[in-house]
Amino acid sequence: MYIIDLTHYLDSRGSIAPERGPARKMASFLVAVVAHASDFDRSDDVPGPVCFKYRERDHRVVETGITENDVIVWRCVACGTEGCISNWQQTFWDLSHGTPSD
Ligand SMILES: [Zn+2]
Repeated sequence: MYIIDLTHYLDSRGSIAPERGPARKMASFLVAVVAHASDFDRSDDVPGPVCFKYRERDHRVVETGITENDVIVWRCVACGTEGCISNWQQTFWDLSHGTPSD
């Protein structure tokens, strides 16, 4: 179980901090999970992000959700990896307030 504080992966401007390597891949995955889970207008058949343990073309996507305490959770059906993400609100990937055009 991964316990993630999203702000640990962001720089002072709110962008993804790690520039390369496994940390960058993990950070990219985490923000994709946040965008997927917080987009309440998304249709249910939009697949989740590809699990960070796989390559893009393997299409091992994760399921995402939000708990009653506003913690984002993900679970990978393929490898069983799961985690939760806090402090995602107000980041660039927080879509819970809709897009400006709404
Ligand atoms: Zn996985």
